[in-house]
Amino acid sequence: MIKLRGFLETSFLDWDGKVSCVVFVPNCNYNCPFCSNWLLVHEPDSLPEVPLERIAAFIKERADFLDGVVVTGGEPTVHPDLPALLKRFKELGVLVKLDTNGTNPSMLAKLIEQKLVDYFAMDIKAPLNDKYAAAAGAKVDLDNIRTSIKLIMDSGVDYEFRTTVIPNLLGLPEIAEIARTIAGAKKYALQQFVPAHSLIKEMQKLDPHPAETLQEMAKIARQSVPNTIVRGV
Ligand code: SF4
Repeated sequence: MIKLRGFLETSFLDWDGKVSCVVFVPNCNYNCPFCSNWLLVHEPDSLPEVPLERIAAFIKERADFLDGVVVTGGEPTVHPDLPALLKRFKELGVLVKLDTNGTNPSMLAKLIEQKLVDYFAMDIKAPLNDKYAAAAGAKVDLDNIRTSIKLIMDSGVDYEFRTTVIPNLLGLPEIAEIARTIAGAKKYALQQFVPAHSLIKEMQKLDPHPAETLQEMAKIARQSVPNTIVRGV
């Protein structure tokens, strides 16, 4: 089973409208320069393991209070035994939200088929062109991203797509292009970039776009995805 490397008992922020607990899964196949969970990605063994049964006991104890569990990372889909982990949570009777970077559509298909996820939040880092690799800090198979978008939109499972608006890579034209790629999606969230969370010193010096710019981007994105929201401003 996956060695879990973090657990937040109560969150009102990680799943809109729900009270959740958050489980942190280590490792990732990206190396985003703005990653806020970089210890999980680069030095997971430096974090203490949280036993799954401790989390399960907490969920059972708080069943009346908790709506669901958010499984985040790192990138959970790099672990072949992710379905077993999510099954354990479903058996406890809670809803499951999965955060993913969308690089593993075959895992997403498996999870959809086995009805193990109640909500997907998939990152779209940049327009689906050569900017994507810069935003992800890694080589990216854009066909996998396209396949994951389609799978999630056709899945019948609730979802959102989301983009952290990195000021040196993403402006109005880029956000408009991403929104066109996911036209007709249920929800799109633009997330404010937080320099202090970044691992890379140059990124820490970047000024985020002003709140008004994010609102302007959202206005343009709504032409393709009417339910576009802004977070973190
Ligand atoms: S995909 Fe997420 S966890 Fe992975 S490096 Fe990027 S921001 Fe960090």
